[in-house]
Amino acid sequence: MVCEQADVFASACALARAFPLFTHRSSASRRTEKKTVTVEFFLVGQDNGPVEVSTLQCLANATEGVRLAARIVDTPCSEMNTDTFLEEINKVGKELGIVPTIIRDEELKARGFGGIYGVGKAALHPPALAVLSHTPDGATQTIAWVGKGIVYDTGGLSIKGKTTMPGMKRDCGGAAAVLGAFRAAIMQGFKDNLHAVFCLAENSVGPNATRPDDIHLLYSGKTVEINNTDAEGRLVLADGVSYACKDLGADIILDVATLTGAQGIATGKYHAAVLTNSAEWEAACVKAGRKCGDLVHPLVYCPELHFSEFTSAVADMKNSVADRDNSPSSCAGLFIASHLGFDWPGVWVHLDIAAPVHAGERATGFGVALLLALFGRASEDPLLNLVSPLGCEVDVQEGDMGRDSKRRKLV
Ligand SMILES: [Zn+2]
Repeated sequence: MVCEQADVFASACALARAFPLFTHRSSASRRTEKKTVTVEFFLVGQDNGPVEVSTLQCLANATEGVRLAARIVDTPCSEMNTDTFLEEINKVGKELGIVPTIIRDEELKARGFGGIYGVGKAALHPPALAVLSHTPDGATQTIAWVGKGIVYDTGGLSIKGKTTMPGMKRDCGGAAAVLGAFRAAIMQGFKDNLHAVFCLAENSVGPNATRPDDIHLLYSGKTVEINNTDAEGRLVLADGVSYACKDLGADIILDVATLTGAQGIATGKYHAAVLTNSAEWEAACVKAGRKCGDLVHPLVYCPELHFSEFTSAVADMKNSVADRDNSPSSCAGLFIASHLGFDWPGVWVHLDIAAPVHAGERATGFGVALLLALFGRASEDPLLNLVSPLGCEVDVQEGDMGRDSKRRKLV
């Protein structure tokens, strides 16, 4: 790879996507030896000295995170169900010396997680909320990354068609990205409190499945009339962000999800969509995307005009919009934010990665590089600092992101 220092991170992450781990081709299982790919970096332009050992370490962790996320997303639900996803979380926890908090099945119901429980209760493998927490001494803020982990989305009783269901193994792409990024971020030395929150469920069909018209009480305390069981991601994430706010005391809550098919219409196949209550963070996401290769473009954030799409006569809100021609990806994100409350003083960032989570038939591990870059300033690692939105002098001179707002400061 021949590139400039500033492009090393994005280039390495792009290369990682080209070598997926998951395959069930019979030819692969017959092969006993491991394939090794050697990548050399030749730096050109400014700072064209040898690549430092610390840089290589960071690239190794980042690319392992990308490939871990892609492997989880590529694995079909017959193998990557909620049990196996929890095993993946436990494995990462063990590597990092963190014991995950896991709330599961009937305990979810008992503790008021009506979103996650309601979506996952018809499946053979029960739903779960899992959390990996990193709380170092000297932390100055608390960040939560909340991932949508729908290990399979049939649509539920509002069932998908035979052409729209294939590929729904990828509906856990947000949670997979959070796991890959969390592992890499902690390994590279994360200075602030960081919680990875996984909302795991299989949206299945059975006698116990949620019906349209059912009303669920979510962890936020708000009631939701279900008018579309295929709009399930926002329900599990509403519980996830509420938990991050109420129980983890997060100041910055970022959720990442394969939330809406409409995201591909709004921002295309290559750019994730960002919806946020902070103009600074919106700009930071776009900038981080350009630096790491996981591209991002903003959606309209306007709860005062859009949230009425969810009006219900019998509950606090419905879970799906009245008019699908009214910025549906924005509205879907707003549903999540409404469970924090639109007057919540913290930073809320929502990333819809439905389209860029895959390229053709393969998962991309999208989101891992983006989270590492976006929160690069919270890292001790020089390369992650370099790719963060505030990462080089030129960027700092360009604007004053983060300086003018104490409450919503960038890490
Ligand atoms: Zn769905």
